Amino acid sequence: MHKNFKNIEKVVFGRGSFAQLGEIIDPIRKENNKYFVYVVDNFFKDKPLSQKLQNKPEDLIYFIDVDPHEPTTEQVDTLRNDILYKKGLPSGVIGIGGGSIMDIAKAVSLMLTNQGSSVQYQGLNLIKNPGVYHLGIPTLSGTGAEVSMTAVLTGPEKKLGLKCEYTVFNQVILDPELTATVPMDKWFYTGMDTYIHCIESEQGINKNAFSSAYAQQSIQLCEDIYLNEKSGKTPENDDKLMVASLMGALSLTYSEVGVCHAISYGLSKILGYKHCFANCVIFQHLEDIYPEGVQKFKQMVQKNGIQLPQNLSSQWDDTTVTAMAQVSYNLPFMWKHAFGENYQSIATLDFIKSLFRRL
Ligand code: NAD
Ligand code: ZN
Repeated sequence: MHKNFKNIEKVVFGRGSFAQLGEIIDPIRKENNKYFVYVVDNFFKDKPLSQKLQNKPEDLIYFIDVDPHEPTTEQVDTLRNDILYKKGLPSGVIGIGGGSIMDIAKAVSLMLTNQGSSVQYQGLNLIKNPGVYHLGIPTLSGTGAEVSMTAVLTGPEKKLGLKCEYTVFNQVILDPELTATVPMDKWFYTGMDTYIHCIESEQGINKNAFSSAYAQQSIQLCEDIYLNEKSGKTPENDDKLMVASLMGALSLTYSEVGVCHAISYGLSKILGYKHCFANCVIFQHLEDIYPEGVQKFKQMVQKNGIQLPQNLSSQWDDTTVTAMAQVSYNLPFMWKHAFGENYQSIATLDFIKSLFRRL
């Protein structure tokens, strides 16, 4: 069976395109209780962007601090309950922020029309009803959450997305101007998530001409942004990174991620490491699995003056390593993509533990 992927319905790209938000959502305002929910990264609370939301008095605005932890099922359930209690079903949900806010906006839109806790919908095609209209405006490029079919949530048992066709945004507004304020470290880690998506997508059994075309273009853009002559955090490169992020996610959607992401999920779930940072910490140690990709990655680390932590595993006891390895082990589709049909004989629990001990 070949993947039948639902793409975003509408995309605007360009500097200043954020100003088109009001006009885009106006026709949707007649739906449900005729108001919008804005879910905005707390970084923008006192910034000029918060004065330009094009909201109406009836709209609800939530500024969310995404730094304490990655989005959780509990957080999404609480937000959904609050919205329904205050004003009933909205016309739509608008997410403005990085990958965390993209995932919260997507998940809330689904949970507004699906009963119970989001915990019961973590997995593939478990959502029963389409969500309300949802629109994403990324302010940090790299995760590809703006285009993906999943809203990744950490629950009591697992870190796993609400993954189905209904998750995909109805509309995204890609305005690279919104990423101007991203600090250098986050610019690097989140951009590298795209790069790693592409390297992993390219190296595995699910690779195909479709995924490969997106990956190769996205890798080229990443090299322009982080390695080549005109590299650095410039407006031109902010434009490129926004497109690279989208293409990287499209590539992995038609292919799959691999070893770095499998390990990363374990590190995030058990020790709370942030996704993109965790990927960078791990990827530097996978040169035997992704030789060219890791070599270029190390050059990019050096070129951009990034210091990645070393010898982390010396502080981890066997119980912690085993717990992380269990989480990673339970992502067979990633191991299968990376190592082929025979993956079970390679990606044993002991092998996965040995990868954690490299860190
Ligand atoms: P993030 O959304 O967690 O934000 C990281 C930091 O950057 C925060 O401090 C935030 O306030 C700040 N920030 C965002 N935009 C800014 C701006 N314009 N200026 C200054 N600061 C800004 O970071 P992320 O790396 O984009 O997202 C990580 C999340 O994405 C994780 O929870 C991960 O699980 C998820 N993810 C989802 C998918 C998917 O397909 N759904 C894919 C990969 C990762
Ligand atoms: Zn990723």
